[in-house]
Amino acid sequence: MPAQPPKNCPWCARSLPSVARHAPGGTVCDVCGVTITTPWPSETQLDAAYAGFYRPASGRFSGPGDALLRRSRTRLARRLDALAPPGPVLDVGSGDGTLLDALHAVGRETLGLERHSERPDTRAVDIDEAGGPWAAIVMWHALEHLRAPGAALDTAARELLPRGILAVAVPNASSLQARAFGERWLALDLPRHLTHIPARALRARLAATGLRIERESHWRGGQVLFGWVHGLVASLPGRPDLYDAIRRPQARRRPLSAGKRMRILAIGTLLAPIAAFASVLEVALRRGGSIYIEARRA
Ligand SMILES: [Zn+2]
Repeated sequence: MPAQPPKNCPWCARSLPSVARHAPGGTVCDVCGVTITTPWPSETQLDAAYAGFYRPASGRFSGPGDALLRRSRTRLARRLDALAPPGPVLDVGSGDGTLLDALHAVGRETLGLERHSERPDTRAVDIDEAGGPWAAIVMWHALEHLRAPGAALDTAARELLPRGILAVAVPNASSLQARAFGERWLALDLPRHLTHIPARALRARLAATGLRIERESHWRGGQVLFGWVHGLVASLPGRPDLYDAIRRPQARRRPLSAGKRMRILAIGTLLAPIAAFASVLEVALRRGGSIYIEARRA
């Protein structure tokens, strides 16, 4: 059974009307423009949604996927190390710890926060119990998983050292791909994503915390090209699932025969040039499938 829906917007905290406008994934807060997942899942439903396939111990992706992931986290760690003042780094939503390892490799002390803590350098607590201050805080595709993302941003801003850096990536609910694919958009990821945040809501909320935005990228947050290929493939009859096809068998939502998997991968390859064109377009229009922002405390 779903949980009681929130009375106040999880993003901007204003009270929500009893009858709200519907958008893909849920209902819209008319004040900040964030869509709130409806029905609002209970903890039991979320536990079930995170169990098993989402992140098995053997890794998520087949082929070079996990290696690519490691390389991109290494780049992020080096960038943060260059930008942030000396001091420890907090990774909110640290997942399997790939970024923690990369930060450790550049000599940073780290702490990761994760729903289920499985490493000595992670804790299963909310950000307001994580201590601080931090030289940098990373919220890499994390805010959309939290029940109170607006309050978490406030805490992050407060717990930064002077000149500290907050790095945030979220799926962009106002991207061209979100509009194009609607309820089929890969990054809706229901029910794990509890809010669907348009770029302007992220900018406005960060500005309200007093941080200064130093960089905004519509590409660096990832999932731009893949979001398009996935959406185009899922628009075909039978709604083939490319995300499952690139994952290891134990990391799939549904079992997939080898023949069907090859067909889906072939279709994805055929549609890749169209997806590449759409990706370039949405990045150029600053309406990318995900938005990445670096903001600094004064
Ligand atoms: Zn709101």
